[in-house]
Amino acid sequence: MRPVLLVHGGAGRVPEDGGGGAREGLAAAAGAAWRLLEEGGPAMEAVIAAVQALEEDPRFNAGYGSVLTEDGDVEMDAAVMDGNTMRAGAVAAVRLVRHPVLLARAVLEEGRHVLLVGEGAERMAAARGLPRCPPGDLITPARRAQWERGRADRGGGTVGAVALDRAGRLAAATSTGGTAGKRAGRVGDSPLIGCGTYADARGAASATGDGEAIIRVVLAARAVDALDPETDLAATAAAALAGMQALTGGTGGLILLDAAGRAGAAHTTPFMAVARRGGGA
Ligand code: ASP
Repeated sequence: MRPVLLVHGGAGRVPEDGGGGAREGLAAAAGAAWRLLEEGGPAMEAVIAAVQALEEDPRFNAGYGSVLTEDGDVEMDAAVMDGNTMRAGAVAAVRLVRHPVLLARAVLEEGRHVLLVGEGAERMAAARGLPRCPPGDLITPARRAQWERGRADRGGGTVGAVALDRAGRLAAATSTGGTAGKRAGRVGDSPLIGCGTYADARGAASATGDGEAIIRVVLAARAVDALDPETDLAATAAAALAGMQALTGGTGGLILLDAAGRAGAAHTTPFMAVARRGGGA
């Protein structure tokens, strides 16, 4: 099997720099993940490597650089799913962890639960020796300034990845700080399996956009269900997003990959940066 990788940097407004910074960040993250896949590494490790790199990049709304809640805190959501075993792990409304995607993987590996939230998830991070940080350490000056201006919006910057490895395994991962100015305790689509993140033996998807809309239409699983050998994946992703918009009015973006190595992306927002390595239409 020839490996394939797609990474997105969130659906939203066109950034002030036209998107150059986002594309640069995605290229670096995709490069590291692609090397793993080329060396025969597992799809799960590749999507985690890409997302972890973007959580460290302050240009994205995930990990360091997450948007702030209405109270001025960072609360993050993340999920990972392995398509062939259908094992999944997710965390929601977590603070104090530098890399929510690694904590989501720990939940998957332990296998006892699928989704952990808040303090219980943070305790698991401590027990697993995952990098912890004081709350303020995840807040960038730009996010603090945005919060001070009182801008509650969804500007984009969520990150996600889907991959197919040489052994034919599929995986998906998504990580986000959620929506700027959200209520404390709000959980978006990203950590909800089938909504923002989904993979099975047929395909893998990571979504971004209006979380409340994505949750209601179960967007990622809906897109994988709609995979069809006659239709290219960009069209399948676009149709899933159009369906969401018709049903809810919400907009967003989607990256999609199937077991044959076909890949596609679509967005109904003005902008979504995507990096792609390998694969057909
Ligand atoms: N979907 C994310 C959320 O609602 C936000 C985004 O993708 O920009 O948490």
